[in-house]
Amino acid sequence: MRVRFAPSPTGYLHIGGLRTALYNFLLARRHGGTFVLRIEDTDRSRFVEDAEQDILEMLRWAGITYDEGPITGGDFGPYRQSERSARYAEVAAQLVKSGNAYVAFDDDDALEAMRSRHRSENNPNPRYDHTTRGEMQNSLTLSADAVDQLLSEGVPHVIRLNVRPGETVVFSDAVRGEVRFESATIDDQVLIKSDGLPTYHLANIVDDHDMGITHVIRGEEWLPSTPKHVLLYQAMGWDVPTMAHLPLILSPTGGKLSKRNAEKQGIPVSVSQYVEAGYEPEALVNFLALLGWNPGDEREVFSLADLTTAFSLERVGQSGVQFDLQKLNWFNEQWLRSKASSQLATRLLPQARAAFGCEDEAYLEQAIDMMKERMTMAADVLDASYLFKAPESYDEKAVSKRWKANSSEVLSAFAVVLSELDAWSEQGLEVSLKAFIDAQGVGMGALMFPLRMALSGVGGGPSLYALMALIGREETLSRIKRAVLTIAT
Ligand code: GLU
Repeated sequence: MRVRFAPSPTGYLHIGGLRTALYNFLLARRHGGTFVLRIEDTDRSRFVEDAEQDILEMLRWAGITYDEGPITGGDFGPYRQSERSARYAEVAAQLVKSGNAYVAFDDDDALEAMRSRHRSENNPNPRYDHTTRGEMQNSLTLSADAVDQLLSEGVPHVIRLNVRPGETVVFSDAVRGEVRFESATIDDQVLIKSDGLPTYHLANIVDDHDMGITHVIRGEEWLPSTPKHVLLYQAMGWDVPTMAHLPLILSPTGGKLSKRNAEKQGIPVSVSQYVEAGYEPEALVNFLALLGWNPGDEREVFSLADLTTAFSLERVGQSGVQFDLQKLNWFNEQWLRSKASSQLATRLLPQARAAFGCEDEAYLEQAIDMMKERMTMAADVLDASYLFKAPESYDEKAVSKRWKANSSEVLSAFAVVLSELDAWSEQGLEVSLKAFIDAQGVGMGALMFPLRMALSGVGGGPSLYALMALIGREETLSRIKRAVLTIAT
């Protein structure tokens, strides 16, 4: 098995692309196959300078490794199509020679004139195909001498696929089963553009053949191109690889998740945006794995290693799958909880330092430990500024509702207990707080609320015992003192 991920560097890697890469990777790893990365950079007009670098970096971030590729090398290189032009020209010439392709000289004006001649309600986008090619300037309508003459004069030309009507193009798709297209509906696709470079269709099949690709796994948006590819394979006498078209990723409101409607709904489309937003790579991988594939049971949390043993094309669905950011966030929570706080602390220390001047990694680790169950994103811990510094204000709404006439008094009395407490630990604090409440004969809330307000300034948060243990006696007492002075007056 040899599979490939063949992105075009026309933009940064998007989530659909990462899913395609992931499924290819998983299949290769599952079956001991080879995973090839090929950069399809023949469209110079849409070329984006740093797109290839982004693709490589994002794959690395996600933990998706490949066996052959532009930098890695391999026996089938080069792995950038811009470095393989000669081979495409050679195949195009063969196709012309065998009558499966032809040379066409029509300029933009001639093409537009043809379209406006044929445009009608029933035919809004007239094609260059068996119905129109006879009216055009090409090697099927011109004499051989005329063609040679035009070529020798250097008249710009393209090479087109000669699609014969009346055939049914059939191929079997590992996800969709048998797929059929009538050749009469397929246009005479340009294979070589007037700049001499191949189009995607030609370069793609030449490389898939030359690189020994056995399985083509890609997004459903490529399904309509596949009959052209099948015709090209047949014209060259090459085997058609196994095809597998992955279901579309749909927007939460329905319809394809296009860049535009994703942005409207606040859904990032580039993988780098997820990296910047601080998602765990395991979470995005886990989420994307289940966006189109299911394990056939209730399991949801899968590491990359788990996936390589569980994944199969048979369990890839046909129907579009809805993108659900909430679900991704849920995966992020699961993965965060499985990570060691020390590891997260090392990662977050630079941010904690910038925000709070926090230099103490052990302190940060402890803060993360107590917040982990409440975090969706790792950096959420930094949003709880009271973990690092005294609150500067107190939630007014909560105070006016729940700060009672005796709150200051209860709090001050508890401060005395705290100042005399022997064991300043989570457990010791819990025992003494409970004993205090019993002795005072007040309800839990009568102390807990003002205490939480004094320590954090907000109405909800982690265990107060853990919080006091973290910030220490001195800081706890100073925050209580400040709250009593500020809130009571
Ligand atoms: N270059 C195409 C892309 O950008 C590759 C499609 C395919 O896998 O054949 O997705």
